[in-house]
Amino acid sequence: MKILVTGGAGFIGSNFVQYILERYPKYEIINLDALTYAGNLENLTSIQDNSHYTFIKGDITNPELVNSLFDKGIDTIVHFAAESHVDRSILEPDIFVKTNVLGTQVLLEAARKHTVKKFIHVSTDEVYGSLGETGLFTEETPIAPNSPYSASKAGSDLLVRSYHETFGLNINITRCSNNYGPYQFPEKLIPLMIANALSDKALPVYGDGLNIRDWLYVEDHCSAIDLVLHNGVSGEVYNIGGNNERTNIQIIQTILRELGKPESLMHFVKDRPGHDRRYGIDATKITNELGWKPKHYFETGIQATIRWYLDNQAWWKRIQTGEYQKYFYEQYGSR
Ligand code: NAD
Repeated sequence: MKILVTGGAGFIGSNFVQYILERYPKYEIINLDALTYAGNLENLTSIQDNSHYTFIKGDITNPELVNSLFDKGIDTIVHFAAESHVDRSILEPDIFVKTNVLGTQVLLEAARKHTVKKFIHVSTDEVYGSLGETGLFTEETPIAPNSPYSASKAGSDLLVRSYHETFGLNINITRCSNNYGPYQFPEKLIPLMIANALSDKALPVYGDGLNIRDWLYVEDHCSAIDLVLHNGVSGEVYNIGGNNERTNIQIIQTILRELGKPESLMHFVKDRPGHDRRYGIDATKITNELGWKPKHYFETGIQATIRWYLDNQAWWKRIQTGEYQKYFYEQYGSR
């Protein structure tokens, strides 16, 4: 396989590129990434000299660039590239529409023109909106996004679906819950809380802290995409979840306990507008049809993640740049 991975310098993409090259040393990967604030080539130092790996810095919204890559014989696309942070989508929605919607359409069009064999679109459970106290999202749950981020992802999902229905493109859409693990940018809940706790800074908690998310260890997400890549049925959507629902407060308490830090570091801040109350995934389809099973329990996954952030402090301290500090201040009102 010769795979074009988009967004391979981000959190999940960089884990996925390493995962695939380890398991399938004969595959080739071309990583197209614009290296926005969220992209970091340091995530990929372990494979940078691998002759089966090529990095191209570029924007998925650029059709000339994207089309030019197909001279290299790409047969498969795994599409991660996106603006991915809900809070940023509230501050600056336009870039989310550009990258997530237009960028996906540019890739789909190139895939169609160059008769790519498989297009995997990595999406999110957030497209389904918010759940009440009971029930889970299935692949049949109607799309009802509530943030500019999830709306832009839902828009891209619908375009991907349309390229299957209209042009017969072999597509899969995966919708996963919140990922955690190594290389996650410290603006997202778990790495943000670990980094702040390690620096004895306040841990900002939105609203009452009782919003619930399902947590999926990033390696388990990669193994699910691996199965979809090889065995996914054309046109199908697959939900991927860790079966680990936790309130934000529970996550923060676990991190503080593991690091031996006091709960007094928690600092309640004004809730995020449109904050979805609960997400929960029913992953029965991918389990029954493709034989996927997550390997990591939350208790061990969170310990491995904390250990990684402890061992790689230089990595996250380097990316906490002046620009990031400014964003953090605007968002939470403290540094
Ligand atoms: P991330 O923000 O860490 O990485 C995104 C990557 O895309 C970065 O390397 C960035 O440089 C690149 N990128 C952004 N705009 C680009 C453009 N215009 N052209 C080329 N590259 C561009 O994101 P992530 O957390 O790794 O998420 C990857 C995918 O998984 C996204 O599509 C996201 O919607 C989806 N997802 C993530 C989660 C999660 O918990 N992180 C959960 C569900 C779904």
